[in-house]
Amino acid sequence: MSQLLFRSTNGQSPAVNLREAFLAGQAPDRGLYLPDRFPRISLEEIAEFAELPYREVAFRVLRKFTQDLIPDAALAAMCNKAYDFGVPLEVIQRGVYLMRLDQGPTASFKDFAAQMMAQMFGRFLQEDGAQVTILTATSGDTGSAVAHAFHRVPGVRVIVLFPETEISVSQRKLMTTLKDNIRTVAITGKFDDCQAMVKRAFADPALEHIHLSSANSINIGRLLPQSVYYFYAASRLARPGEPMVFSIPSGNFGDMMGCVVAREMGLPVRKIIASVNDNDAFPRYLATGNYEKVVPSRNSVSNAMNVGHPSNLARLVAVYGGHMDETGKVHRQPDLAAMRRDLFSTSITDDRTRTSLRDFWNKYQILLEPHGVVAWQGFLDWCAKEEIGSSPAVIVETANPAKFPEEVEKVVGWAPDVPAAMTAGLQLPEDYDRMEADYEEFRRYLLERHPKS
Ligand SMILES: *Cc1c(COP(=O)(O)O)cnc(C)c1O
Repeated sequence: MSQLLFRSTNGQSPAVNLREAFLAGQAPDRGLYLPDRFPRISLEEIAEFAELPYREVAFRVLRKFTQDLIPDAALAAMCNKAYDFGVPLEVIQRGVYLMRLDQGPTASFKDFAAQMMAQMFGRFLQEDGAQVTILTATSGDTGSAVAHAFHRVPGVRVIVLFPETEISVSQRKLMTTLKDNIRTVAITGKFDDCQAMVKRAFADPALEHIHLSSANSINIGRLLPQSVYYFYAASRLARPGEPMVFSIPSGNFGDMMGCVVAREMGLPVRKIIASVNDNDAFPRYLATGNYEKVVPSRNSVSNAMNVGHPSNLARLVAVYGGHMDETGKVHRQPDLAAMRRDLFSTSITDDRTRTSLRDFWNKYQILLEPHGVVAWQGFLDWCAKEEIGSSPAVIVETANPAKFPEEVEKVVGWAPDVPAAMTAGLQLPEDYDRMEADYEEFRRYLLERHPKS
């Protein structure tokens, strides 16, 4: 079969292979890469996954994308290194399950993509002896997942910018205690300032020699590993061919797009529920066909989902035949009727998030955290509209409750235990730089560390 190519959602850049799409992050025309066709996984293959450990399921799904580029034995070894943690599936009630994606080294689902991306970067760079600097702004979870995954990967340096007062102490320590090839910079500003500085650096001709790369959710390398756990869950929880319901707490819609990728590859899916916090641009668009981003983004208790304009919507719209550019302007409407058939989206306020967290604990004696409970409440909203019947449903929990001890304690009255994986590094001394939210200063900082040879 011909090589799998990746095209930009903006349609102006040439098609590239996975390696190029991966190393570039964003397409030159500022669109996002999508495969020009989705490789298929048969129902028989999915049924076989039921007996396999997670890392083997990851290998069998990802090889459909990598087989032209990475030998199977190498990919299998990469999956073994990336996925040495569990993916618990708990029963909430008959036919309704909780999938915990919080067992990785930094206790959020961001580990699934970051761990695999580090393996891929390591391999692609080794092939041509190149060096890259991964530059990323974080509001908490992405920075620590990326820093942990890329720690001591040859050929890679990582610089993480974080808003000094907007992240928790444990989130900070998960990044600042690593050292080696990981630099963290506290910015005396907001997350938006950090992101703006990163964007300017990417567009700055004076920094071209540095080979900056990104690991944020516009990268296709982040999306593909996030399709695997949907196959994994279905193989264990549904009968072969039986369509499932997935409820996913959504911010930038990368996790939810992983589910769309799985469905396009052949996973039977009845409904994808994209549950959001007060940042409700998508549910409003689905209802009205009129896209208006939320500017500025709204703060909420599920802070990893405070995204006013989810960048992955460009990909979702493209899958349904439309064109949305990077600013959120819709040039061609997608098939909205089909989107409404396949997807449900709802916005959950902070009040409902807290009430639902308490109710869930009281009813099931299972502890959620502010992101996962948005998915739970979104599922209840959908059940109030549509008959679920016998379809199995999975609620996706994206972080460990111990990452949000203050919020959880306020609601249920006690603070959750911190998992051993998280406490280990927290005792080590920290090391990080501080800077004003001033781009010129940041540029000098980068040039000092990467002089033009
Ligand atoms: C990043 C994040 C989300 C949102 O995921 P998207 O792919 O951006 O939609 C949800 N929950 C947690 C805990 C996160 O860190």
